[in-house]
Amino acid sequence: MEEHDEAEAGTVYLVGAGPGDPGLMTRRALELVRAADSILYDRLIPAGALGGARDDADLRYVGKRPGASSIGQEEIGALLVELARAGRSVVRLKGGDPFVFGRGGEEAQALVAAGIPFEVVPGVTAGVAAPAYAGVPVTHRDDASAVAFVTGHEDPAKPESTLDWGALAAFPGTLVLFMGVGRLAEIAERLVAGGRSPREPVAVVERGTLPGQRTVSGALADIGERVEEAGIRPPAITVVGAVAELRGELAWFERRPLFGLTVAVTRARAQASGLSARLGALGAEVVEAPAIRIVARPRDRGEVAAAVGRVEDYSLVCVTSPNGAELLLDALAGADRDARALAGATVAAIGPGTARALAARGIRADVVPERSIAEALVEALADVAVEGRRVLVARAAEARDVLPDALQERGAVVDVVALYDTVPEPLGAPALDGLARADYVTFTASSTVDSLLDALAAAGASFPPRARLVSIGPVTSDTARDRGLEVAVEAERHDLDGLVEALVADVRGVALPARGGAS
Ligand code: SAH
Repeated sequence: MEEHDEAEAGTVYLVGAGPGDPGLMTRRALELVRAADSILYDRLIPAGALGGARDDADLRYVGKRPGASSIGQEEIGALLVELARAGRSVVRLKGGDPFVFGRGGEEAQALVAAGIPFEVVPGVTAGVAAPAYAGVPVTHRDDASAVAFVTGHEDPAKPESTLDWGALAAFPGTLVLFMGVGRLAEIAERLVAGGRSPREPVAVVERGTLPGQRTVSGALADIGERVEEAGIRPPAITVVGAVAELRGELAWFERRPLFGLTVAVTRARAQASGLSARLGALGAEVVEAPAIRIVARPRDRGEVAAAVGRVEDYSLVCVTSPNGAELLLDALAGADRDARALAGATVAAIGPGTARALAARGIRADVVPERSIAEALVEALADVAVEGRRVLVARAAEARDVLPDALQERGAVVDVVALYDTVPEPLGAPALDGLARADYVTFTASSTVDSLLDALAAAGASFPPRARLVSIGPVTSDTARDRGLEVAVEAERHDLDGLVEALVADVRGVALPARGGAS
């Protein structure tokens, strides 16, 4: 590294990244990750936490490595000082809160000793969040007026243990134990020996706030055994106290309809987020496995430019996908035009999703069939006069000709304009792993069926045999069957909401292998 003896030292930010759910990172944490020159991070940070980092940021993993020697606490302190002295803005990113069993205190002391400016950004600690996601409030007006955060890391049998288990047993409130799930039986015994009731409720939450969260409930007398039976592994939080029982009433997260299920989304990355967010909000672990990419056609040349040039001539404009809506308005904007250019035309959207995309750009579609398929749009257009009129069909390059053919038959002069192409994209390792684990694979178009199967074949993989295939509608289903797949679920309404609804109905109706979190 370059030496900047004269440079002013950079600031070190000791940042909490929360317990694992990416939505629990603070705004300040996201902001600092975006701006950082260097980021030193641990193992238990949320997936995607570094996604916003600058491309040229220096990212270093300084957490534990199973089976390998990990970088020591002193070295981490020294590295923080060295990077800051070189004038860099340094984020030290830790799971949960940096000052709750995160050794953030020690790192701050090292910074003070070296005269380096620092800031602390508190995070949502797993000690509160994991219980909350398991339906356990750590305090409660009736049941717990105090809460203690305790490390279970120390061997309770060690004479030099700094923890007084007798005093903790007498503590008048909830005990939240970090680490040490392997020692739970021993710890429970100590607490009973110290006077807690063997019937005292306990809940152990593994991978709290994450899609794979599991909770085991019991009492001090049997929790060690139950946790061992369930094969609970770190990271896990243990809650001891009457509040642990409230989970019977309050376990909201584990009761979401898709909790414990892995669902693959095969749409292009740029389009996946809406569907992914809906599925995630219902509790699914979402795997994005795009095998397709959308490439806009140049809008300053060719048929797109020609259509925009004579846009006033169209008495009917049909838009057949949300992408088409966006790209059509982009093309107008590129020609210094806006929604008013369509003022004289009847605007038809193929379905509610496309209508929403148009509405977002200031256009209320006049014709919107409920079922998003070309046949339904043809039917919905029955009353619209088209004979002898110019009609624009704005769509993808690879699309069926049902709509233009029907309009032509009725005497319309139809311009079909391809606004974009869908091109294949290879599947990465995370997508392949995710697909292999998927309980459901969703398809929102025929093109995604073909591209996914081709990409799987190219990677030497096959469609996961255990996964149930969810199709948005009959056209997509036919493509899937043509390619030898069995369609388990077909949406009744052919849009994203319809697809999600059909998937949830299937989960309710099908006995799936044991899902986590049930005890
Ligand atoms: N600073 C962190 C704690 C770090 S110590 C915080 O404030 O949350 C590591 C311990 O935290 C783990 O052994 C486990 O007990 C707990 N932990 C961290 N993330 C967890 C999670 N998602 N679910 C359950 N426990 C978690």
